[in-house]
This record gives sequence, structure tokens and C-alpha cells, in this order.
Amino acid sequence: MAANTAELPTDLLTDLFIGGKTVPAADGGRFDVLDPSTGAVIASVADGTVEDALAAVDAAADAAAQWAGTSPRGRAEVLRTAFELMTERGEELARLITWENGKALADARGEVAYAAEFFRWYSEEAVRAHGSVLTAPSGANKILVLEQPVGICVLVTPWNFPAAMATRKIGPALAAGCTVVLKPASDTPLTALAMAKILEDAGVPPGVVNVLPARRSGAVVSAMLHDPRVRKLSFTGSTEVGRILLKEAADQVVNSSMELGGNAPFLVFADADMDAALEGAMIAKMRNAGEACTAANRFYVEGSVAEEFGRRLSERMAALHVGPGLDEDNQVGPLVNEDTAAKVDQLVRGAVDAGARAVVGGKRPEREGFYYEPTVLLDVQPGSAILSEEIFGPVAPVVTFTDEAEAIRLANDSEYGLVSYVYTADLARGLRVSEALDSGMVGLNRGLVSDPAAPFGGTKQSGIGREGGHDGMLDYLESKYVAVQW
Ligand code: NAD
Repeated sequence: MAANTAELPTDLLTDLFIGGKTVPAADGGRFDVLDPSTGAVIASVADGTVEDALAAVDAAADAAAQWAGTSPRGRAEVLRTAFELMTERGEELARLITWENGKALADARGEVAYAAEFFRWYSEEAVRAHGSVLTAPSGANKILVLEQPVGICVLVTPWNFPAAMATRKIGPALAAGCTVVLKPASDTPLTALAMAKILEDAGVPPGVVNVLPARRSGAVVSAMLHDPRVRKLSFTGSTEVGRILLKEAADQVVNSSMELGGNAPFLVFADADMDAALEGAMIAKMRNAGEACTAANRFYVEGSVAEEFGRRLSERMAALHVGPGLDEDNQVGPLVNEDTAAKVDQLVRGAVDAGARAVVGGKRPEREGFYYEPTVLLDVQPGSAILSEEIFGPVAPVVTFTDEAEAIRLANDSEYGLVSYVYTADLARGLRVSEALDSGMVGLNRGLVSDPAAPFGGTKQSGIGREGGHDGMLDYLESKYVAVQW
């Protein structure tokens, strides 16, 4: 079926963006980008090769000294302009995200606003890469610490937040004075290329930001990580691929940041404000139709309120409008691709076969596109894969607990540790449980934790390092110690 591409912007970039120029792939290869609401092709994008990847590193290397030498204020102003342009072009960008990712337009608009904030935040941080001067404990010497750009960065991003995962890396990298090669996910390269145009229009010099769509991601990223000029890898994606890239990065001892998978527990204590808990649950579960690393993956509810929570959550989930994301009436779009929809279906079937009840949804609707029905599963049995694997879809498994110790034990029983959510009216309990949860972030009476000013990241197999906030900038700086005597 032919896609309706009438609404796609006419100045869409579909080639590689290297050294400030759009260029085809060295071997002429291209790949298709699909509209997840129909499965139809919406664009054909250049498929970067190893040769192109090394050309992108050349461009980043050529631009490095000049960008690092640009004054912090100069870099800040370019980033601030990028924030303003992105905000101005927000609606167009949101529609593009929905075209290639499928998410509901409201989610795409939220993503653009969030993504643009990384440019604003890091425009403000660019002038705050403080070093320090200390007196040695002996009193004999001084310790001078300079903060310098780490060097050329390879940035690899997923499809679920195609704009925000790019700006969360590009913002601090540019603020720190680094040049970058961004390898976006193959499902969503158009947004990344649109971001390259925004950055160019904002005054980013050629070669400072290069964008390399490539379906042969393994070969292309590996080649860049084996180029000794590359000093930094920042990856957001699955734990499985993160492990591969950490091994690849080892050969040249490339400084690596990893934002990996999640399996967020969502705890509801009996004393919680139930309206607030349900509101938070809907946000934590349904933002992006559940395709978020921060998505609530397991709901643990205290026994005495479990029936009420399950019933009211089911009512809310059943009332959601599902359909093409570009239609303003729909709150839930399709999932990104066939594999994702099939995996969600498999996890639900496994849970139901083991004894869970799908009180809402529980299947793929009979329509074209990669949809999954909003689903609530009750009586989910311990040991079901749906409690240990990332669902990445609109499915809420609910399990009951009897006391605080059991809630913490269940929540921490995961190889992941990205984010946890806790709802309770007892602040002391909320803080105590937050401390006991083994995750990099906790939403305490909040269903959304993402904030450009906060350090985002995980423990255990959810990753290494933090993005956002002041910490996010440190990832792109190298401390240089100068021993001085005066
Ligand atoms: P993915 O790991 O399949 O792909 C991520 C990126 O890596 C893509 O650009 C992909 O093309 C590339 N890639 C895949 N195989 C590669 C290889 N062998 N070598 C080099 N690059 C390779 O992940 P995805 O399906 O795009 O995204 C979903 C995953 O991302 C989920 O696990 C989710 O939790 C995670 N995620 C994490 C965060 C976070 O901040 N922790 C944020 C968003 C998404």
C-alpha cells in the first residue's frame, strides 16, 4: 500500500549528513523508513557504509580544534539558537516523529519540548565547565584541574525518543567543545537528519555534528570505535547491544556511557492517594504507548487496595483511543515495528498461559499497522517472563504485595535498575523505600522523572553514567591535572 506522504515536509533530508553536506552512501545503498500505522514506505534513506563512517570521523576531526577553541559563550549561543529554532519548528518536528515512530501526536509534541530543553539547559551549562585549584594537603604544591573536551564522540541512539535521545547527547557534547558523529536508529533516521538541519541553521559549523543513518549498524559503529581518534561512545539502547559495544570500545579504551534497558516497578501502598496513583500509573505506563525505558513494567499493589487499583486502571486503559498517531483523537499510536508488536504479544500470551487474566485488551487488534491493544493483566504469576523482561508496549501486569519489605524485595528482583515509582502518603516511608530501591532514579508520588536538569541513568544492567543535569556535561569533559608550585 502506498503511504500518504502529502504531509511530510518537502525539505526532508534523506542522505547522510557529513561535514555540513548531504551525501549519498559510498556504495549508493538506501533503506526504507516505514509508517508504523500502515506498514507503508514513507521515505528512502541513505544507508551509511564503513567508508562513510570513517569520512564522518574525518569531518569531526577536521572541525574539532576550531570548535573546542570557540569561546564557551559562543558555543552557548549556538545551542540557545538551536533551542529556539527547535521550538519554532516544533509542530513540524512532532509530526515527523509521529510519521516514522508512530507515537501519538501529543507524545511527539511532549518529546520535542523535552528534547529542545536539552539545548537550552546545555547552552546554560556551556559557560560552567569549571576547573578547580586546590592546595595539596602538605601545603607545598597547588593542584590545578582543567576541564577539557574529551574529543570526538560517537553517539548511538534508539528509535523510541528519536529527538530527545539525540539532543540529550549532542547538547552536552557541543557545550563541552566536542565534535560528534550520531548514528540514529534505522526505524527513525528522519528526525535525526531534521535535527542536523536545525543545528546547521543555528550556526553549528560543518563537521561538528555529523549524522550517519546506517542499517549495518554493527560494522559502522565498530569501525568508528576502532579509529583511535574517537575518544567517547555514548549509547542509548538495549542492554544486549550495550554489552556488545562495551566490548568493542575496550579495544581502543574508548570512554563509554551506557543508557540501557529498564524494568521499572511501580509500587502502590494502601495509604496512597489513589487518584494520584492512577494518574501517575497512566503516565508511567502509557507515555509513548509503553515504548520507554522508564515505562512502568510491573505494578505491585498492596493487597487491601489491589482490587480498586486494578479495576480503575482497567477502566482508564479501556477508555483510551487507539489509532494513527497523526489523528488528534488518538492517545495511543501503533508500536514502532512488527517485531516489537510480536514481542509484546508473545509476552502477554506467556503470562496468560501461566494463569494471568487479561481484563482489558490482551491481543493485537485486527487492523493494518503494528498496533497492540492497551492491556491490563491481573493474577500475574511469579516467574512470568513479562515481569522480568522489558515489555515496551501498552501492557500493565499487576501483582499484589503484603508489606513494605516484600514490596522492596519484589521491586529489586531484577537485573535492571533504571527507575522505580512509589506512591504513598507517608513521606517517611516514601523516602525510606526510595533509599532501599536499587535503581538510578525514583519517582516518589510522580509518574514521570525525565527532566533535562536532573541526572538520568541506571544501576545494574541499566547502564553506566548519567545524562542531563550538570553530570551529563561531565561525561564529555576530561579532567587534566596540572601539578604546580608557586
Ligand atoms: P537497540 O539496542 O536495538 O538499538 C539502539 C541503537 O543501537 C540503534 O541505533 C541501533 O541501530 C544500534 N545498534 C543495534 N545493534 C548494534 C550493533 N551490533 N552495533 C552497534 N549499534 C547497534 O535498541 P532500540 O530497540 O532502538 O531501543 C530500545 C531500547 O533502548 C530499550 O531497551 C530501551 O530500554 C532502551 N532505552 C534506554 C534509554 C535510557 O536512557 N536508559 C532510553 C531510551 C531507550
